[in-house]
Amino acid sequence: MSEITIGILGGGQLGSMLSVAARKLNIKTIIYCDDQNAPAQNFCDEFMHGSYDDKEKIYAFANKVQIITYEFENIPFEALNELNKLKTVLPRPSVNRLIQHRLAEKDFINKLNIRTTRYVHIENKDDLLPLEDFLPGILKTTTMGYDGKGQYPIKNISAINALNIDFNNGYILEKLVKLKKEISVIITRFNNNKYEVYEPIENTHEDQILIHSKIPAEINEKLFHQSKEWAISIAEELKYIGTLCVEFFIDRNDNLYVNEIAPRVHNSGHLTINAYNVSQFENHIRAVCSLEQIPLKKISNAEMINLIGNQIIPYREKPKLATNQFFFDYLKKDIKKKRKMGHLTTLK
Ligand code: ADP
Ligand code: MG
Repeated sequence: MSEITIGILGGGQLGSMLSVAARKLNIKTIIYCDDQNAPAQNFCDEFMHGSYDDKEKIYAFANKVQIITYEFENIPFEALNELNKLKTVLPRPSVNRLIQHRLAEKDFINKLNIRTTRYVHIENKDDLLPLEDFLPGILKTTTMGYDGKGQYPIKNISAINALNIDFNNGYILEKLVKLKKEISVIITRFNNNKYEVYEPIENTHEDQILIHSKIPAEINEKLFHQSKEWAISIAEELKYIGTLCVEFFIDRNDNLYVNEIAPRVHNSGHLTINAYNVSQFENHIRAVCSLEQIPLKKISNAEMINLIGNQIIPYREKPKLATNQFFFDYLKKDIKKKRKMGHLTTLK
């Protein structure tokens, strides 16, 4: 039996899948989450409920584990930093702080000579008025956004006057890209120039929520290589340890843009559980626990659909699935509109 216990901050489906992957490697998991109903408690070895600023509880958590990681990027930086004084936190908290902030994140990417959408920092409504050139665009909060939360499409100048939002939050305005496709590249970095990259995944969103992913992505060879190279440069520059996802836009002229970086395992990589010899989750655990790096081998082409809200119901009634189909129920208590409840991967 291995001696390692890993602490995971955050208890959603990504925490669940990390726990399942850890168990396969004989590593124990303790999940700490501020949601009492966190679904990952069904999959980990031990669950602790508490807020991220409850120092006493969070120290008790740290004392039980050898290493700490996180399953979503919006964990307060202060909590990660405090924990890092007690136990190693990977990816490093400074990486998370950079990527948590859309403006800092985009500045960082541009410094690497990697293209992003055009963006400008917005501090109040008046800042928007001279920016017709950026319209149609999307106003995004600089922090705490996910699944399209904190985003406001702005079609034209008159839409600005109608905006009723709190500008204390800090925003960026991004020019809308005329999208042909969206892809993502998942990479697990173990050390300097030691990494495993998955092939680009093609993603479809509806209402800013991922609904479908597939490999291979239908893209040309140049985009295939460029997206992987950019993901490698980003991971190397961050001296990242663990699994990271880079989300890309491809416009109608086949230009590639980095949309955003997720410093964690990613929804588009759920298909790696069945389509590769080592999943993004197992690779994350391997990298942060300094285990062996195994060369990636693709087993099969695949597609994944997210089951959102009520879409989970027919699958919970245990239909007979084909042998190439794999259903995952996140065991979330309440079915809610727009809530990711599970997914179905089909090998092709
Ligand atoms: P989140 O942090 O919520 O994932 P994203 O910035 O990735 O936010 O936006 C979610 C989705 O919204 C994207 O995957 C894309 O489909 C759409 N979107 C966001 N920004 C733009 C943009 N500048 N141009 C075109 N589509 C966009
Ligand atoms: Mg996104």
